[in-house]
Amino acid sequence: MSTEATLLERAGSQCELCSSTENIAPFVVSPHTQITVDHAVVLCETCKEQVEDTSNMDVNHWRCLNDSMWSQVPAVQVLAWRQLTHLSSESWAQDALDMMYIEEETAKWAELGMDADNRKHADCHGAPLAKGDTVTIIKDLPVKGSSMVVKQGTMVRNIGLAQDDPELFSGKVEGQQMWLRCEFCRKK
Ligand SMILES: [Zn+2]
Repeated sequence: MSTEATLLERAGSQCELCSSTENIAPFVVSPHTQITVDHAVVLCETCKEQVEDTSNMDVNHWRCLNDSMWSQVPAVQVLAWRQLTHLSSESWAQDALDMMYIEEETAKWAELGMDADNRKHADCHGAPLAKGDTVTIIKDLPVKGSSMVVKQGTMVRNIGLAQDDPELFSGKVEGQQMWLRCEFCRKK
């Protein structure tokens, strides 16, 4: 059976958060990037949109978590925990979080993904960095595995950002492409 078929069977062909049967599809739970039976859930379009963008959550929709938080599936527990945490200014959501039973390992997964979602690339002063920015290095940085030192004051133009790590950016220094830590740069 394919991964998708296995997931749909587990989910009973319903959204694993709100039980909707419309527009459902497998969804990989960050920081994982591959859809596997253990790392994915079946979500409807509404849940998917509001999991991906928590700035616009429909509070009433998420009352469904009062049921789905009891799922036996760790990936479902992770998403339920994260959404409840985003809603924790609501007293019912905070109550649900207090009641929720979640294994230590699952809790770690839940927190890890939230960090990755929330943390953005930022320079030493917390100013947001974007692809293409020019930055200045604020201290001498030895380059691992070589005798090279990236000197304080070095300008790095046209930086790239690590997709999976908000602490790293890439850039060319003396003709060499390398990864550098955002905390050691200042945006121009
Ligand atoms: Zn749903």
